[in-house]
Amino acid sequence: MRIIDYFRDFSRLFFPDNCAACGNILVTNEETICTSCLYHIPKTNYHTRPDNPVSEVFWGRTRIEKATSFFFFHKSTHYQHIIHNLKYRGNKDVGILMGRYFATDLKDNDFHSDIDMIVPVPLHPKKLRLRGYNQSEMIARGIADVWKIELNPQSLKRTTFTETQTRKSRIDRWLNVESVFEVADPETIKGKHILLVDDVLTTGATLEACANALLKVDGVKVSVATLAYAKN
Ligand SMILES: [Zn+2]
Repeated sequence: MRIIDYFRDFSRLFFPDNCAACGNILVTNEETICTSCLYHIPKTNYHTRPDNPVSEVFWGRTRIEKATSFFFFHKSTHYQHIIHNLKYRGNKDVGILMGRYFATDLKDNDFHSDIDMIVPVPLHPKKLRLRGYNQSEMIARGIADVWKIELNPQSLKRTTFTETQTRKSRIDRWLNVESVFEVADPETIKGKHILLVDDVLTTGATLEACANALLKVDGVKVSVATLAYAKN
């Protein structure tokens, strides 16, 4: 046993780490997610099909080159806890780690080869102060680590605070987020194929608004990747 494993096991006696999905206590060599949860992730594998339910979300709404999500988000499974831990319980690591696994799958299929830059969906500065980090940026960071592609969390800005959107209809949500995104420094993204990254895809309204802001810059192309896909 390596000394570092010894100390990790020792500290886990007092502060056990739990799997961010099922909550079981992690054993040596497991990091953030247990082996069983990793193995059983309900992957969409949509990156293997250009016309897939995630890309269809944007049809007739905005111009997206390709789109995919890593796994299905169902309220009844423990995989929803990954998102919950990432967004509300301060677990940044689970975002970075899942981003890495996602990026590795996408690399197998050459999804990454024509992407120049990775841009996370920004949080409003007020929310960023409350949470301390942008969860989408953590996922984007994991992807950028694996692909060795530039991560750009600065160019796209959210300008107006949107009120809680959960109870609103799709049209209301769309109106609510329209025009709140803008590109701060168009020169840095000019002519680039950008992968826009978010945590969960639901109606696609936020991603659509982000894409529209990015597409105003000369020569920009946009693709989309989200960690989870919640079917409506
Ligand atoms: Zn687990």
